[in-house]
Amino acid sequence: MKIVISDYAWPNIDIEKEFFKSKSIDLDVANGKEDLINKIKDADGLLFCFEDINEDVLRSGEKLKAAQRYGIGVDNINIKVATELGIVVSNIPDYCIDEVSDHALSLLLAINRMILPDSRMVKLGKWNEVKKDNRVYRLKDATLGVIGFGRIGRRLSNKAKSLGLNVIAYDPYISENVHDGVNILSFEEVISSSDILSLHVPLTEETNHLISHKELANMKNDVILINVSRGGLIDEKALLDYLDNGRVRGVGLDVMEDHNPSSSNPLFKYENVIITPHTAFFSQESSEELQLRSCKQLLDVLNGNKPEFLINPDVLNHSEVNLN
Ligand code: NAD
Repeated sequence: MKIVISDYAWPNIDIEKEFFKSKSIDLDVANGKEDLINKIKDADGLLFCFEDINEDVLRSGEKLKAAQRYGIGVDNINIKVATELGIVVSNIPDYCIDEVSDHALSLLLAINRMILPDSRMVKLGKWNEVKKDNRVYRLKDATLGVIGFGRIGRRLSNKAKSLGLNVIAYDPYISENVHDGVNILSFEEVISSSDILSLHVPLTEETNHLISHKELANMKNDVILINVSRGGLIDEKALLDYLDNGRVRGVGLDVMEDHNPSSSNPLFKYENVIITPHTAFFSQESSEELQLRSCKQLLDVLNGNKPEFLINPDVLNHSEVNLN
């Protein structure tokens, strides 16, 4: 049996090496897309993180049976083609809920409290020159709107409530009016009544550019916008207009439309925009948990069992897929 790793986002793959060595399974690591297309040819299983697992990659896997995402989001694999080819796709949806909700909260607090710009002024010797003319919210009088009330949205909401924030949420897949002690409102209501908005939805055709001109126009003045989910959720061109006209108080991003932005990206020039490089998921604990659970789940599928977290259930109808 052979496993190929397309890419990973932690210092080493010692956990994976030890795991597969102990089962006498070959492990290969690709170096870029072309190499992946080559190495996947005779692989039984794939572990992938941020690499785009498109139709070409999947069709190159002549005996590929399972593809395991190192993570939660599965917007970077062509699920339709995987299903058609009988490739079982799985993820680990619950390994970093604390880290990502902490990250969203950190961005929220840093922007509201002016941490980065004020610290920069101090280091420039301008202790007495900070003007205090930006809107700074007293959190117990402010409203946080959570778009997408799943695992991360709910964890963030609990943390935010402990800081005194009033939390409201929008999630079209929740039918109750109140869920986990939070009022579930319409998209328009949440967009227009939040001082701070945080996005926690998967990137799909439906959620691409969920936040664009119309939505920004309906937000309150001085809104703080947080996105630690996926870059495509926000139309960055529209966002630039609302940063320029001063309607948006600040933005905290862990993800961008461009996955590898150059230093000339226009969003980088704003002092009220904080950007981290898709690190919200990371802690030593979350990363080690992700690595080991991904290996175990992939092997489980290759041994003929249904994964705990199956993304494409339709694959079970494929004539060559026969899982217990
Ligand atoms: P989840 O599946 O538990 O929750 C997502 C919620 O979004 C669900 O409740 C769903 O009903 C809701 N939803 C779906 N479509 C919607 C729409 N159109 N409008 C509003 N809500 C909608 O997922 P999660 O664990 O909370 O993760 C959310 C996202 O965070 C993931 O999809 C992933 O893209 C991202 N993520 C980012 C990092 C990072 O390191 N930055 C790490 C993990 C996850």
